[in-house]
Amino acid sequence: MIDVLNSPVSILRGIGQKRAELLKKLNIVTCADLIRYFPRGYLDMSQITPIDQLKNGQTATVVAKVCTDISKRVGKRATRFLFSVSDPKGNQIFVILYNQAYLAQHLHPGLTVLLHGTFTVEGIVRRIESPKIKLDPQPEIQPIYPLTEGVTQASLAKNIAVALDACQNQLKEMLLPEIRTECDLPEIREAYRSVHFPKTAAEAERAKNRFIFEELFLFTVGIRILKLRVQKLNAPKLEPRDMTPLLNRLPYALTNAQKRVIRECFDGIRKPTPMSRLIQGDVGSGKTVIAAAVAYLAAKNGLQTALMVPTEILAIQHYESLSSLLGPCGVKVELLTGSMRAAEKRDLQLRIEAGATDLVIGTHALIQKSVKFRNLAIAIADEQHRFGVQQRAAMQEKGINPHMIFLSATPIPRSLALVLYGDLDISILDELPPGRIPVATRRINSETSPRMYQYLRDRIEKGDQAYIVCPSVEGSDEMKSAVDFCNELQQTVFRGISIACLHGRMRAEEKEAILSDFMKNKISVLVSTTVIEVGVNVPNATTMVIENAERFGLSQLHQLRGRVGRGTRASYCFAVSDDQSEEATARLSAFCATNDGFEISRKDLELRGPGDFLGNRQHGLPPFKIADLTRDMKILERVSRVADQLFEDPSWFILPENRALFISASEMLRSAMLQ
Ligand code: ADP
Ligand code: MG
Repeated sequence: MIDVLNSPVSILRGIGQKRAELLKKLNIVTCADLIRYFPRGYLDMSQITPIDQLKNGQTATVVAKVCTDISKRVGKRATRFLFSVSDPKGNQIFVILYNQAYLAQHLHPGLTVLLHGTFTVEGIVRRIESPKIKLDPQPEIQPIYPLTEGVTQASLAKNIAVALDACQNQLKEMLLPEIRTECDLPEIREAYRSVHFPKTAAEAERAKNRFIFEELFLFTVGIRILKLRVQKLNAPKLEPRDMTPLLNRLPYALTNAQKRVIRECFDGIRKPTPMSRLIQGDVGSGKTVIAAAVAYLAAKNGLQTALMVPTEILAIQHYESLSSLLGPCGVKVELLTGSMRAAEKRDLQLRIEAGATDLVIGTHALIQKSVKFRNLAIAIADEQHRFGVQQRAAMQEKGINPHMIFLSATPIPRSLALVLYGDLDISILDELPPGRIPVATRRINSETSPRMYQYLRDRIEKGDQAYIVCPSVEGSDEMKSAVDFCNELQQTVFRGISIACLHGRMRAEEKEAILSDFMKNKISVLVSTTVIEVGVNVPNATTMVIENAERFGLSQLHQLRGRVGRGTRASYCFAVSDDQSEEATARLSAFCATNDGFEISRKDLELRGPGDFLGNRQHGLPPFKIADLTRDMKILERVSRVADQLFEDPSWFILPENRALFISASEMLRSAMLQ
């Protein structure tokens, strides 16, 4: 028996060389490509509306008899064909066609036709221009395929019908009957029929959901199998060590949540297989010290740790705090950034390779080829939502099956985490250090903002520090720019106060100098772009002003607010915005209403959907062909549940009835990894 699915489309009846060339433009090469060329939508002409029930502006389908001659009007621009149709009760519709001579030829009084389009109704005068007309008046639902020149909807549908017939007996059912029943999914042959030639919209929808389910399911199963394989790998071996020297150096006692999460990390690290753990904790919950504890343990085992962060500012800050914490305990900490001088970088790379460095903190510079570790045991990504799959993979490849830890302040639903990070273990830091006072958040507008700045000046004169965030570096009419606004403030309300500007286009040394002055309270007010969004920690800063607050997403606003409220004094956040739109108001009200990062994430997901939530920064999403994570969250959740059940018996895929699924899942994963 020949493998029809993988044969070129030219083996099919009605497809010659020329047709095959045309189809190739649509990326259709094999018969499988052809039957998997899914409609992007449907023209639903299955519901017939009686003429006397048509409403003005309604898009509907009508079946009626041509009741007049077809009159032809030749105009300068177009030839029009005018006629009327009527139902048995005498309700009429006046029809205008433009330039459709071929169709007009086939119309004649007495013929029953089906019309689809948008109707104009004024009293009993009904009209439609350029409707879709079917001479065979059977109600139906037509698939709409993306086309290319020379390929029509009808001809493509015909090719697909032939292909489906030819492949009929070779379609493999990948989903077990139990799963199909549980999730109400049609069987594979039926699904292909229904997706291309549905009788009702519901049938088409159900078939499409099956294919979405299948795609997400194969990927999820692939990931889980991968995870099982990972569990056979040997990870670097770490022995328990006395942690008291480190704990004694901390200026505070760990929260119970921190103790628990550190324990969870240590338990994972002690296992012979590599750990992958996502640590979720709200801004300010104290995630950095978890990284410190893990790095300490590794160093005392003679092994290296890498801490990758998304911005240079954060790298510098972590370097300063971690080297002063760990340095005196005998842990050698170094900083690697992209803007270091070449010679410096080379020296540092030599020390890393020789194992003279225990903890390397850095930006993306860390994952460059030239960086080689002697014995990387633990790779940590801070603010992990800023990194893509490839970057995380590159990090992993710096060691031999290192343990991976991802720190995140943006909680994501577990089902999404599964797609983005494989099957991670998850730890939750659900407790803020004691004495934190929730940041009081107010929305104000440009009218009231001068009073707020005056008030801010008073606070600063009493020794407080403040951040002011602007959406851009350079000015535009409707957006405050950090540079201009900084100058303006300096010459007006903040005259005589030490104020500086910080943004991403500055050189690393400049940034470092400013940040370090701000930390030492030599600078009182920092006017900045969102470069301070993640991680920056200056507990003496108690006020955050966000200009053009409508420009920021909810999670981002929360991250910005998280820069204050890090000490034990009351902190304030002012969101300045004149945007009265419903959308901005909903977002800013939600922002003012809660300080809870998990609540904020839920709300953000609700307001924007997971698309934005994942962020444009979230590169490296698996390349799904049919599924769309911004739309198919519900299906994804169902997929996760089904996979959970299956993997309760981790060897289920060895059973012969699951062989096809196993192979397809592995293939799917392989192609996803190659992207
Ligand atoms: P994030 O989770 O946002 O990364 P950080 O690790 O930057 O938070 O910690 C925020 C602040 O809280 C830092 O100043 C840190 O020193 C402080 N901190 C962390 N843990 C505790 C604790 N258990 N008690 C008191 N302060 C703490
Ligand atoms: Mg942090």
